[in-house]
Amino acid sequence: MLQSLARLYPPPRLLTRPGGLLPYESDGLTVFRARPRAVVLPESREEVIETVRLCHRAQIPFVARGSGTSLSGGALPHTDGIVIALNRLNRIIEVDPVDRIAVVEPGVINLDVSSAVASHGLYYAPDPSSQPVCTIGGNVAFNSGGAHCFKYGMTLNHVLGLEAVLPDGTVVTLGGRSLELTGPDLVGAYVGSEGLFGIALEITLRLLPQPECSRTVLAAYQSLEAAGDAVSHIVASGLLP
Ligand SMILES: Cc1cc2nc3c(=O)[nH]c(=O)nc-3n(C[C@H](O)[C@H](O)[C@H](O)COP(=O)(O)OP(=O)(O)OC[C@H]3O[C@@H](n4cnc5c(N)ncnc54)[C@H](O)[C@@H]3O)c2cc1C
Repeated sequence: MLQSLARLYPPPRLLTRPGGLLPYESDGLTVFRARPRAVVLPESREEVIETVRLCHRAQIPFVARGSGTSLSGGALPHTDGIVIALNRLNRIIEVDPVDRIAVVEPGVINLDVSSAVASHGLYYAPDPSSQPVCTIGGNVAFNSGGAHCFKYGMTLNHVLGLEAVLPDGTVVTLGGRSLELTGPDLVGAYVGSEGLFGIALEITLRLLPQPECSRTVLAAYQSLEAAGDAVSHIVASGLLP
């Protein structure tokens, strides 16, 4: 297996020594650690697909990894397995401000999407607190969300389509470029599947217009209960912050 990987990757992008493997032994849940057999750093979708096919043929487990900020061991390697680290697939392939769409590779950092489309008056709404470092691929696998999602929905509500390589190496295209699709919601099944359905290679994201203005309000309460009640009253009044 390592020989096959060595034919696919130059030495700097095929990590097998303990020092190189160390950062990949765990994700944000550092209480669990496992040293993988190897880590590969693909720079193209073709390399990802070929790696998955090699793993499938050799029956070697693999795990996809974005920025490794998962707090639940999602990117934890298998000791016999390969880590496919996707940070180098970080290109924003297309921005269509008319259709309000961005097509991105899985290693694109969440916040970079909003930065890339800001000049069009658009932004990408799902905002996990880790958004300056976490990747869209990780967000898709975990259906991540943050404060904006209360109003705008989770990652699931902002992924229109995706291309993925399934664990057996088959490449599939799910969804499309619009919310109006016919047939079963396969994108819905994929988003939140925690990497079980292979690796997302290309993701089509829905963009929203930036709010015309925003104001931050700070309120202090005597107790957590009082603060919670205030939030409930604001939401019950029909106002979503
Ligand atoms: C300080 C901090 C704050 C956080 N705040 C939030 C928050 O507010 N909301 C929230 O939801 N989460 C939060 N998280 C958790 C984490 O950041 C998110 O789950 C994030 O989506 C993980 O992205 P990642 O790129 O780090 O993915 P990783 O941790 O590398 O991987 C996460 C999962 O995605 C899979 N995966 C990665 N890339 C792909 C791909 N291309 N295709 C298929 N599967 C893939 C991995 O196998 C793994 O199962 C936080 C974490 C930290 C450390």
